[in-house]
Amino acid sequence: MQNYETVVGLEIHAHLKTESKMFCRCATAPKGRDYESSKKDEPNIRICPICTGQPGTLPIANRKAIEDTILLGLALGSRIPDSFNFERKNYYYPDLPKAYQITSATRPPVIGGGLEIDVRGSQKFIELDHIHLEEDAGKLTHPKAGDYSLVDLNRAGTPLLEIITKPVLSSGIEAASFMRNLQSILRYLNISDADMEKGQMRCDANISVRKSGSKQLGAKVEVKNINSFKMVAAAIDYESKRQVEAIENGEKIEQQTRGWDSNKGKTIAQRTKEYANDYRYFPEPDLPPFEIGKGKALDPEIINDRLPELPKEKRVRFKSEYGLAESDAHIISANFDLAKYFEDIILHLPEAAEGSANARQVGKMVANLMINEMLGKITGIENIYNSKVTPENFAGLVSLLVQEKITGKLAKIILAKMIKTGKSAYNIVKEEEIEKIDVKSLEQIINGVISGNPHEVERYRNGETKLFGFFVGQVMKESKGQADPSATSKILREKL
Ligand SMILES: [Zn+2]
Repeated sequence: MQNYETVVGLEIHAHLKTESKMFCRCATAPKGRDYESSKKDEPNIRICPICTGQPGTLPIANRKAIEDTILLGLALGSRIPDSFNFERKNYYYPDLPKAYQITSATRPPVIGGGLEIDVRGSQKFIELDHIHLEEDAGKLTHPKAGDYSLVDLNRAGTPLLEIITKPVLSSGIEAASFMRNLQSILRYLNISDADMEKGQMRCDANISVRKSGSKQLGAKVEVKNINSFKMVAAAIDYESKRQVEAIENGEKIEQQTRGWDSNKGKTIAQRTKEYANDYRYFPEPDLPPFEIGKGKALDPEIINDRLPELPKEKRVRFKSEYGLAESDAHIISANFDLAKYFEDIILHLPEAAEGSANARQVGKMVANLMINEMLGKITGIENIYNSKVTPENFAGLVSLLVQEKITGKLAKIILAKMIKTGKSAYNIVKEEEIEKIDVKSLEQIINGVISGNPHEVERYRNGETKLFGFFVGQVMKESKGQADPSATSKILREKL
């Protein structure tokens, strides 16, 4: 493998979460976008003559979808051209009633730009070729018993972004990292939920290998319909290994389309492309070219006002304002809701207000508790706001800690109870009478530990100073975590 390098380009599809479809007024999703609990989401209920391709109908473009596409371009530092236009991509398939798809790949609304990824501590800029906007097709189901298929056109006409990278990725882990960062930005911009499990984001990967240092691209294999981060990494790594082995065995790599079989953990040949499909593209005659510019209907300066603080900017600010470590700032800023929750806690904590002496220390405390003591316990919850701990209550817990009414160890125990019950830290402390113990009781416990471990005391006094930790541990155990660590150390040192 050392003499070869892998070259990957991604084509990522993401559903825009506009209210209505791309070229008609039909809704894109059940009310509240709740597919799971919506029993009403029967097939073919969100359709009309336009999205079912009836003769004589005319498309009307969805302004929000176009603006959302330009917004993503602005967030990724892309070039927004003076105009773009829709075109027809002609092909026949039963889920595409018009027998053409309206797309905008030839003169797209967003060109270039890109996204930085961070893989094992080193940064790489992943350049985009372009982003275009198109409409999705319907869905086919093939009942097991029966020689027929069913067509559901609820999805037909849903606005779909296609984000196309240059062939600059070189491993599965890079591709997965790019997908994650892109998902984070789509969610920050609030233009797509980009949930891969729900089919709101999927990707095709074009994979080839070449001898290291060679400028020429090898024959590319396209792996279609990848729908998880794990799968994108596994499929690329498998495919590059397969291609290298084939070349080493003197075989020729065929340009083909393959699918990923998750059960077998390998790619499977689907069809071999002998020549490119002829889609007979031509400009969509029912939609005029769209002009973009100052004073035009699509004004990038006005769209730019919708641009929020993005993950990377937030990460930098979290480090400088709240003193977070790089890795903590990264974890929190990568997820829009997590970042908002973190700042909501800070908002309720006067101790962390800008300019207060301990602001940075308190910020770090919050991040620590959130990442190490909370995230692992709420893995089944999609959004941290749906957990039982409100930001106000979280702030209350940190407040007790800052005021030294509880120890760090107690804070962890109390937080675990808060996650389970939804009670406030104050109430848990009061009900269970857990409070930091006073100095007098602490001295009694320490006396007990010293008299109970005469051997260790002797060894410690003979120079085995590393036994100090043993004594601290014993005191913590005896006090059920309620002893203050710094007071414990101080008294222990005096008495030993
Ligand atoms: Zn419709």
